[in-house]
Amino acid sequence: MFLHGKVASSEVNGPGKRAVLWLQGCTLACTGCHNPETHKFTGKSYVDNQDIKSWLLELPDIEGVTFSGGEPMQHVSDLIDILQFLRDIRPELSVGMYTGYTERELEFGHWRTFYAGQMLQGDGETWKHVKERIDYAVMGRFNVQKLTTEKPLCGSANQNIVTFTDRYTAKDFKQVQAAEVTISADGLVSITGYPGVEFLRAVETNLK
Ligand code: SF4
Repeated sequence: MFLHGKVASSEVNGPGKRAVLWLQGCTLACTGCHNPETHKFTGKSYVDNQDIKSWLLELPDIEGVTFSGGEPMQHVSDLIDILQFLRDIRPELSVGMYTGYTERELEFGHWRTFYAGQMLQGDGETWKHVKERIDYAVMGRFNVQKLTTEKPLCGSANQNIVTFTDRYTAKDFKQVQAAEVTISADGLVSITGYPGVEFLRAVETNLK
């Protein structure tokens, strides 16, 4: 799987404490995207799925796992492999995903995915394999013209949370938008969630 980064525990990427995996590679090019460094598909970022599974296996005290991007659906083969592992081996964990595609686009095959060095057309059947293995998704392109702080987990008002199981209801997504800073053991700083400009400036100042 092409991986940009991961954190073992976050409280701003879905209900409860969640592990988060950011995939590396997205061609959707939303204007104002907060993660432009995740757009390029680069072989350097490839991590063996077995290593990701071993990591997921050992995570204690989390409610679920969130897949973010980059664009998870543009990595659908590896994504389904990891999702199936979670459903088989850690079914107690909930699974969420951020995707820039709408449900309609995914159902009708208006999406693409990277496989064996090329972009292939997606289809509704493959999307079905994904949605059968996740509990919810935050769906739709980020639109900088429709910024919102009102909709939990959504950066712009056109995006929506869609649930695919009865594990969560709307009240489980009531968390306010917030941001987190994580500093790994090797000193790598990552910011996740919904950081405003002031927040980013404050982090930059404190890290100097
Ligand atoms: S889909 Fe997500 S990662 Fe891709 S450009 Fe849009 S906001 Fe950025």
